[in-house]
Amino acid sequence: MEKILIVEDNRTLAKLIAKKIKETLKFEVNIAYDLKEAKLFIKAYKYFLVLLDLNLPDAPNGEVVDYALSKKQHVIVLSGNIDKEFRKSILKKGIIDYVTKGGIQDIAYTIGAIDRLDKNRVHKVLIVDDSMVVRQHIKALLKNLFFTTIAVAHGEEALKMLNLHSDISLVITDYNMPVMDGLTLTYEIRKNYKKNALSIIALSSNEDSEINALFLKHGANDYISKPFSKEEFSCRINNTIEALENLNLVTNHANRDYLTGLYNRRYFFSHMDEYIEEIFHNSEKYAVAMIDIDHFKKVNDTYGHEVGDRAITHLSEILTSATNYRDMVARFGGEEFCIVLKNVNKYSAFDILQRLREEVYNSYILSDNNEEVRFSVSIGIAVSNEESLQDNIAQADMMLYKAKNEGRNRVIMD
Ligand code: GH3
Ligand code: MG
Ligand code: MG
Repeated sequence: MEKILIVEDNRTLAKLIAKKIKETLKFEVNIAYDLKEAKLFIKAYKYFLVLLDLNLPDAPNGEVVDYALSKKQHVIVLSGNIDKEFRKSILKKGIIDYVTKGGIQDIAYTIGAIDRLDKNRVHKVLIVDDSMVVRQHIKALLKNLFFTTIAVAHGEEALKMLNLHSDISLVITDYNMPVMDGLTLTYEIRKNYKKNALSIIALSSNEDSEINALFLKHGANDYISKPFSKEEFSCRINNTIEALENLNLVTNHANRDYLTGLYNRRYFFSHMDEYIEEIFHNSEKYAVAMIDIDHFKKVNDTYGHEVGDRAITHLSEILTSATNYRDMVARFGGEEFCIVLKNVNKYSAFDILQRLREEVYNSYILSDNNEEVRFSVSIGIAVSNEESLQDNIAQADMMLYKAKNEGRNRVIMD
């Protein structure tokens, strides 16, 4: 597990923060009560983040911050000092955040900030600015917030990058750039990427309030006026990323099955309509496989419903790992699943599903008493010809019925 170091001489506070971190986040926590101890910890371990008190018995003036930064640590400062100038001078040092130790809500804020940084690591940000100095500056700010970054000098390059990296979450774009300006870029991006797939933040100069409005109209999620403070920058970036995550969460809830995280029936059909339209003009073939657990009632009756649920989750993991990321794996209900293998002929479809069946048969889950619980699946396959999706599903269903009748734990294809 990754580690967080708390350096704080107030033992009660240090332990309270440590407890909250362990309760809500997936980190191990070390506590140092003075600079001397902090040095030993930093030398001995690798930390995701260090939380530093500015006023320690052997370092009363924030010396621990300079030490930690010199050792390339990511620093959040905890301080009782609310003096504006002092705060500003500390913020300049390349720390991530400055949290005032006021009360319980400050601890909650700190936990939230750590959680945010942890999640930021999965997000890739594309910086678009023609000034190398600005690019480097923003890159450094984003790196400090644990984002992965890519930087380009104008809009056309940005569009190319988006094509190459399908996992970019956020574009930060300047307005004035050669070749293609930020506004046109925003407009172009929104032709292909909806707000739930990609966020855009515009950088504009303060004088031009009209440009800011235009950016928002063209589909930017937010704008930051130059010059900006590091704190405003962090807050706006984090808010935008959080909104993106929440949007995805909502969409996911509507499209996915709660127990397994697989796609649900509703999403299956809407996705398949799109897919079938897509392959209408070429001769791509797909296979529909209906999969049902054998004698599942017995698993529930013998080991209880919870173990039954575990079996369903276990199977869903095998279904996902045995298929390609383009394929469609859905839970139709109960212990019944439907897979669509895209761009396959019937031989490889049979092969893939036969192997999948064997993998299920050779694996097991554990009951509450650590007994090995084994089960098998029956599979019916139909490979598309000219029939409709509904006909293919009906055909696969019929083959599944046949597999059950012929003794279960088998794959049957028409
Ligand atoms: P067969 O080999 O013919 O498919 O027999 P079976 O026992 O698997 O089939 P049957 O349709 O008779 O029973 C399915 C059982 O699956 C009944 C139902 O209670 C259980 N079941 C359906 N959904 C869930 C679920 O989400 N969790 C659990 N634990 N059980 C479920
Ligand atoms: Mg102190
Ligand atoms: Mg069954």
